[in-house]
Amino acid sequence: MTDKRLRVAIIGAGPAGLSAAIEFQRLPFVDLRIYEQATVLREIGSGLSLQRNTWRMLESLGALQNIKPDEIFRAADGHSVQHRNGRTGELIASHGQGDTPPHHLHARVFRSVLQKALLQNVNQSNLHLSTRLERITQHRLTGPVTLQFSSGQTDEVDLVIGADGVRSVVRQFAFPEHRIGYTGRTAYRGLIPTDKILAIPGFPDAVTFWHGPRDWVYTCNLRHGVYELTCNADVPNEEKRVSWGEPAGLEEFRRPWKDFGPLVQQIVNLATDVQRFALFAGPRLESVVSRGSIALIGDASHPLSGAFGAGAGFALEDSYVLARAVTRAHERGHALSRGLDLYDRVRSPHYRAMYVILDEFKQSDIELGQLGLDFDEGTAYTIRGKWARKYGWLYDYDVQEVWRKAAVEEDARLQQEVARL
Ligand SMILES: Cc1cc2nc3c(=O)[nH]c(=O)nc-3n(C[C@H](O)[C@H](O)[C@H](O)COP(=O)(O)OP(=O)(O)OC[C@H]3O[C@@H](n4cnc5c(N)ncnc54)[C@H](O)[C@@H]3O)c2cc1C
Repeated sequence: MTDKRLRVAIIGAGPAGLSAAIEFQRLPFVDLRIYEQATVLREIGSGLSLQRNTWRMLESLGALQNIKPDEIFRAADGHSVQHRNGRTGELIASHGQGDTPPHHLHARVFRSVLQKALLQNVNQSNLHLSTRLERITQHRLTGPVTLQFSSGQTDEVDLVIGADGVRSVVRQFAFPEHRIGYTGRTAYRGLIPTDKILAIPGFPDAVTFWHGPRDWVYTCNLRHGVYELTCNADVPNEEKRVSWGEPAGLEEFRRPWKDFGPLVQQIVNLATDVQRFALFAGPRLESVVSRGSIALIGDASHPLSGAFGAGAGFALEDSYVLARAVTRAHERGHALSRGLDLYDRVRSPHYRAMYVILDEFKQSDIELGQLGLDFDEGTAYTIRGKWARKYGWLYDYDVQEVWRKAAVEEDARLQQEVARL
């Protein structure tokens, strides 16, 4: 990298793009622009969990104080989540939060709360709405790329950050062979007035999964007088769907929950305005960088379609590492590609570990199919196999510490290279 300012374009202004914008606008050697296809930044979906790792990142971005206590729900008894049998209501597991400091405790918020908190710290003069990226071209194997937008506008940049979600155009250019497909699962999301929910005798004002052997219903208070209902079920033959968040017919929505108990049925029947999210996912990418000038962050880098319910947190972690890896390369006068490689060396193993968990989940599903268990036995089996706290490290993950270690290792590697010369 030279004294010339580094031209950086971020594609997409979801959690990944907005957090990257905050990171990169701090860098004096960067000339930044953010392109977003939407005409306005709007909420997609309803609720979002802020786990310990996400709070850490929000703090680092200076955005933690943009979220007010009355905008978040935290369970009164300090649990992060409860897992209940969806037929009997029996509490099977409840996860506490160990040594988590109070301001990093799990919280549930409207997605728009996170969006607003990030947006507040973004220099909006860099943000170009209604600008959809259509194509990328690169004349050499590495170096600047030209972005072409649906408006006909073009822009040449040194670094393009693909923060354009699970159906990323940037990823398609970087890895043309990569494909996503329908997972066979569909999420339904709706909101219910809180007073109607809490009028149900014995209903826990908690963060609750109501499980069946495979399908689940999730309820949580989102404050603002509404309760969130998210349901996740096997729904075959949705391969043709491309929309994200389209209205779902009530008959279709209520159909999968027939084996659940009266309490769950009652909640499901209270939801009237339900949206369907056909879940698409793809295999792990071998790398999250490409061509010396492309970095993927957020869902674009790991098309997991909501697996682990913490994608926004992972996106913020990506931005944290990418900005530091690029800065390191700049400060040492290295090529940008060296910074990108370092970003890849830190983040790819993290995503590899997540895909291993998904393989374990698949194995658990296969075994479940073979065991021929009834509803209650199957539910207990699935909670043990898939929802155990052993996967909690994802939410406690300390990317700042991981980055510190990676930077030290990189310094040692550099010294060895110099010594060899
Ligand atoms: C059912 C469900 C529940 C979830 N629950 C949680 C949760 O509890 N906690 C959590 O942390 N995460 C959760 N997630 C995941 C989380 O929503 C995503 O991981 C997160 O939104 C990813 O952020 P992103 O910025 O990478 O992508 P997105 O939020 O998808 O943003 C991508 C942006 O890019 C824009 N864009 C796309 N293409 C283009 C283009 N060609 N040109 C310009 N702009 C473009 C889009 O308009 C959009 O604004 C959930 C996901 C699902 C499906």
